Amino acid sequence: MSSKVKKKILGLKESSTLAINEKSKELILKGKKIYQFGFGQSPFPVPEKIVKKLKENAHRKEYLPIQGLPELRKKISNYLFERTGNNYPIENILITPGSKEAMLLIHIAFDGDIIIPAPGWVSYKPQADIGSNKVHWLETYRSNNWFPSGKDLEKKIKSIGKRKNLILILNSPNNPSGSVCDNFQELAQVAKKYGILILSDEIYTDLTFTNEYNSISKFYPESTFITGGLSKWCGAGGWRLGFLAVPKKLSEFMKSLKSLASESYSTVNTPTQYASVEAYSSNHEIYKIKVRAILKAVGNYVYSNLKSNKVLINPPQGAFYLMPEFKNKKFKNSTQLCDAILNDTGVAMLPGSDFGFNPKKMLTRLSYTDFDGIEFFKNTSDHKTIDVKMVKRYAPNVVEGTTKLSNWAKNL
Ligand code: PMP
Ligand code: GLU
Repeated sequence: MSSKVKKKILGLKESSTLAINEKSKELILKGKKIYQFGFGQSPFPVPEKIVKKLKENAHRKEYLPIQGLPELRKKISNYLFERTGNNYPIENILITPGSKEAMLLIHIAFDGDIIIPAPGWVSYKPQADIGSNKVHWLETYRSNNWFPSGKDLEKKIKSIGKRKNLILILNSPNNPSGSVCDNFQELAQVAKKYGILILSDEIYTDLTFTNEYNSISKFYPESTFITGGLSKWCGAGGWRLGFLAVPKKLSEFMKSLKSLASESYSTVNTPTQYASVEAYSSNHEIYKIKVRAILKAVGNYVYSNLKSNKVLINPPQGAFYLMPEFKNKKFKNSTQLCDAILNDTGVAMLPGSDFGFNPKKMLTRLSYTDFDGIEFFKNTSDHKTIDVKMVKRYAPNVVEGTTKLSNWAKNL
């Protein structure tokens, strides 16, 4: 019997990030000790002032404008201006239920092909498939910190051919590599030369460990879409509050996105939008500095204790991921490798193949967020005092999982 589901939708599986989260929880319920290095979620509390605003606005029940609360869009416009020097006016900002939805709407509206550097986040390719946009993976290398060079990009564009509209997706700090891009200017020059659009996924940019906010839009504002939101820097993934900023010259694109929004989710829930005004009203600098410092300390702990002649890793620079590569010929692909690690040690990770790598490459994604962020945050007085002792005390699961993984790798 026919499944009555469209072929391209039948081909989709559940997003692997959410699937590993559920699988880990099931195993825990069955009594297994699991180190949850699979799902990428901020462990930190939402800043108190923002939670307070949510409570104060819980009674609001009216629908807001499709594009979102004007006051919130104004704050986001200012936030982007301060960080990138670019003016994305409020008419060009759309509030979305998570930035994931913003990206999906772009794929549905866009008529062209998508270039995704590998590694690229698990949802980019399925979303392009849903939008019937062809994907061109752009291979990157450890030696270039897992970002494409200008030359790599130019070669890829030339191989695709001239008549195509193209979007290049960039994400820095990067999920899954944890690396920060240091060649935006060079990439922007090539993008400009060929007139391609950029989708700059800046969901982790406030979690850059050097405390800098870098964006390719600084070099190519006229054709750069920016997505962001509360999920990572503010610890509010479950609130589902994201935004999209559309460059001024693409206002027509914005019109179509607005229609799509109005025909799907209508508008984002009202109390969260009011609370988010608070989130974008000040810099929350003390909160962010502490969060970054804790993540940096935990990331560096994992990096230093896992890296060996059997496990290659680049140092953590932002977000909360590392991308260990295991040297072995025993496993056929990275999924088999992750299954064996989960089985043997209880450490849950995602295979590199979910991020666009050749399945034969023994790359994995490790998310180092399996700790009580509320406790760690509460016991951190400033960003200078986080030493290994504190990591051991407040992130014991990360420490134990790292030891298990490191011992496992010794036998490869
Ligand atoms: N981009 C990347 C790279 C991510 O890891 C995530 C994680 N959820 C998102 C976008 C989407 O975030 P959200 O929809 O919660 O804004
Ligand atoms: N971004 C998170 C991750 O990569 C999970 C949330 C999601 O996929 O929407 O694990």
